[in-house]
Amino acid sequence: MAERSWSFSNVFRNVFGGGEPISDETWDDLETALLSADFGPDITDSILDQLRADVERHRVTEVKELRRMLRELIEERLAAFDPTLKLSDRPAVILVVGVNGVGKTTTIGKFSNYLRSFDKRVLVGAADTFRAAAVEQLATWAERSGADIVRPQQQGQDPASVAFQAVERAKNENYDVAIIDTAGRLQTKGGLMDELTKVRRVIEKQSPIAEVLLVLDATTGQNGLAQAEAFIEHAGVTGLVLTKLDGSAKGGFVLAVQQKTGLPIKLVGQGEGIGDLTGFTPHVFAQQLVG
Ligand code: GDP
Ligand code: GDP
Ligand code: MG
Repeated sequence: MAERSWSFSNVFRNVFGGGEPISDETWDDLETALLSADFGPDITDSILDQLRADVERHRVTEVKELRRMLRELIEERLAAFDPTLKLSDRPAVILVVGVNGVGKTTTIGKFSNYLRSFDKRVLVGAADTFRAAAVEQLATWAERSGADIVRPQQQGQDPASVAFQAVERAKNENYDVAIIDTAGRLQTKGGLMDELTKVRRVIEKQSPIAEVLLVLDATTGQNGLAQAEAFIEHAGVTGLVLTKLDGSAKGGFVLAVQQKTGLPIKLVGQGEGIGDLTGFTPHVFAQQLVG
């Protein structure tokens, strides 16, 4: 996926604005910037500790050097996770999960469009069956991206049966990728997790699941992470999708979320348009974040 330019509000401008030597104020400003970028207190501390040690060891005095060191440190930490999507199975079955409103359906639309641009045949399954509008939203994205869709035969049909039918058709008709959309409801946590377990079990009767992608809204930051824990515990998540990073000041969440979950970020959403999805490249990301 093409890397596009990001529009993080530049929280580090304050820290690295001047060319003056590193002072106590630089360290204070840096701490404030890291926290406001949503790295979280633990990672902020560990970044500051590592930078202080490196600055001392290499006798660095210039703010400009400190900026380079921060950029490299963030890149290095981001790169500890493998962002490669597993798409080699045929069909590659991808289950998309997450709480309500994080951008699951939109991500599926964008990702289908990306895959279609490589002439992959994509089938989407509308296993968010409880709201008619949810099915129509996915159908609209499918049409825009040139993917085919398996819909529920009636409203409220068991999501697992829609998922089953979608994967069955993907196998029979030799699709490259089958992407299953699911409902996300916080308030029915117990029920929803049981439902997801059932969806997975039923799909696996047909085919192994290549990826379970958990979608997280970056604007909710550390809170969103707490909400997502149930999915990580129960849904067999293999990778993360971070949405709504466009215009977000919370780029540090990217590192926080990988370190806290131990899961790689595989896709990044940065707008509501069909082209607003990219893969995740630590070098580019660190550059865009730190400048
Ligand atoms: P779902 O409930 O998880 O399926 O979420 P939807 O896909 O319906 O998206 C919820 C809202 O978030 C919609 O208004 C989307 O347009 C919006 N959205 C999704 N991804 C992004 C993104 O990367 N950036 C922005 N700005 N909005 C997004
Ligand atoms: P209400 O909006 O407060 O009335 O919430 P309800 O719990 O009655 O459910 C609203 C909608 O969500 C209904 O269409 C239900 O069929 C659906 N729903 C309820 N429980 C679940 C669940 O566990 N999973 C999913 N996907 N949908 C559910
Ligand atoms: Mg949806």
